[in-house]
Amino acid sequence: MIRFIDIYKAYDNGTKALKGISMRIDDGEFVFLVGPSGSGKSTIIKLITAEVAPTDGRLMVNGYNLNTIRPRQVPYMRRTLGVIFQDFRLIEKKSIYDNLVFAMRAVGASPREIKKRIAYVLELVGLDTKADRRPDELSGGEQQRVAIARALVNNPSMIIADEPTGNLDPQRSLEIMMLLEKINELGTTVLVVTHEKELVNRFAKRVIAIENGRIISDGMGGYYDNET
Ligand code: ADP
Ligand code: ADP
Repeated sequence: MIRFIDIYKAYDNGTKALKGISMRIDDGEFVFLVGPSGSGKSTIIKLITAEVAPTDGRLMVNGYNLNTIRPRQVPYMRRTLGVIFQDFRLIEKKSIYDNLVFAMRAVGASPREIKKRIAYVLELVGLDTKADRRPDELSGGEQQRVAIARALVNNPSMIIADEPTGNLDPQRSLEIMMLLEKINELGTTVLVVTHEKELVNRFAKRVIAIENGRIISDGMGGYYDNET
């Protein structure tokens, strides 16, 4: 569960990125976080991943109190999260399979666990026949599926996808969103940051809209309905 209680974030140069954000995302939810460029979406993600600390307010992430977390606990908190980016961030020199092995070794998984889990996630994302390819031998949509597999491989309770479809065409974008929906149905909480309104409106999901560092609406579907 994620809980923001009256969170403020001011950067060192004085920019007030967040101005009193309160929200709660329960386990098992699928949530879109939307808003114009500069509204504070990335800051919210960086707060959840503990890359930045709040200036004020209380912040809980999957049982960790980020106001009081000790530095050595941060890696354990991060293991509860799987993060996906617009630019995939795969290791180009490694095969798909080895990208996933690398992620699992980093958390000390056994060879047996690694083999079993990778087979499962590759099948889930539909890439079981392409495990030996390198990222540059895959399409953009396939590379994003690998990134999703990597995010899932250590069984996080939540997936955070930061503009996951920013580099993909509409059909590939829809497929990625449907894959995230399937992953959510299997029990993982999903938070998707996007400003692609057509895509958001195709899914009847909770939409948290932010503007200028504040939540301006939070509810089921229909975001951007009063915009052209
Ligand atoms: P706006 O941009 O809408 O004019 P501001 O960002 O100046 O509003 O501030 C809105 C309110 O939030 C003010 O009451 C301000 O004191 C408070 N506030 C803004 N940033 C912080 C912060 N980092 N810590 C505590 N309070 C803040
Ligand atoms: P979004 O992800 O919605 O585009 P951000 O969270 O990146 O918004 O940015 C919110 C505000 O904070 C913007 O005004 C942005 O310029 C500012 N900002 C973001 N990162 C920094 C930083 N490291 N230092 C100073 N200002 C920043």
